Amino acid sequence: SIQDKWALITGSNRGIGLAIAQGLLAKGYGVIITSRSLDNAKQVAEKLQGKVIPIELDVTNDHSINQAVETLHQKIDHLDVLINNAGVYPDEGVNILTIPRELLDSTMNANAFGAIRMVQAFLPLLEKTHDARVVNVSSGFGALEGLSADVPSYCLSKLALNGATIMLAQALHAKGIIVNSMCPGWVRTDMGGPSAPRSPEQGADTAIWLATEAPASESGKFFRDRKVVSF
Ligand code: NDP
Repeated sequence: SIQDKWALITGSNRGIGLAIAQGLLAKGYGVIITSRSLDNAKQVAEKLQGKVIPIELDVTNDHSINQAVETLHQKIDHLDVLINNAGVYPDEGVNILTIPRELLDSTMNANAFGAIRMVQAFLPLLEKTHDARVVNVSSGFGALEGLSADVPSYCLSKLALNGATIMLAQALHAKGIIVNSMCPGWVRTDMGGPSAPRSPEQGADTAIWLATEAPASESGKFFRDRKVVSF
């Protein structure tokens, strides 16, 4: 029953991740609120209504991911939804001709490889349900038409995340696990800034829909506003 459904959202202490968590709580899901700071996750969890587990999680750090898996194994016996939402946007002042390798490395690690490692690490819990769903929060900057020389590491990381979505969907098809990526639009968060047209709730809508109600026939696709768009 919905009473037993659990969703983990990376980077859910603020912004779109928090809005996704709130939306899933409102639908009766238990949610795992994750932040790089445990205190931060606990503070956010205290303000939410429903079944909430706060844990510490840095998606760039395998030790942190393994600790999170271990902690959760003691509290839940399955995971229905994994939302890879954590992300960084660090390209201010650099372009594709000037960006240092360290910045390429760290952005790819957080935005793309982190999502792949999360699926690997949480697969045993996801496999305990027959219809688990993974949603990767990507961006129009990761679509071929959206690539920008002035936003190089972010665009490359979201392009890679979209590629990983296709490959993970393929690899998990036989297990009945659905994997899609989505673009939230331009959203008023710390990342999006105050002039963005969308609220965090609006930005969260398609991710929540993909995690709960979207037709199970769609996997390995890229969505915006609940519609398939091209990669
Ligand atoms: P915010 O900057 O408000 O929040 C980002 C979240 O990601 C924070 O919770 C942050 O945690 C977390 N995070 C960053 N790095 C890591 C890490 N290594 N491990 C774990 N968590 C981490 O951004 P948004 O809410 O706007 O963005 C959420 C997602 O939506 C991102 O993937 C972003 O690329 C995407 N997106 C956003 C758009 C927008 O307009 N806002 C547009 C298109 C896509 P902490 O508090 O510890 O820093």
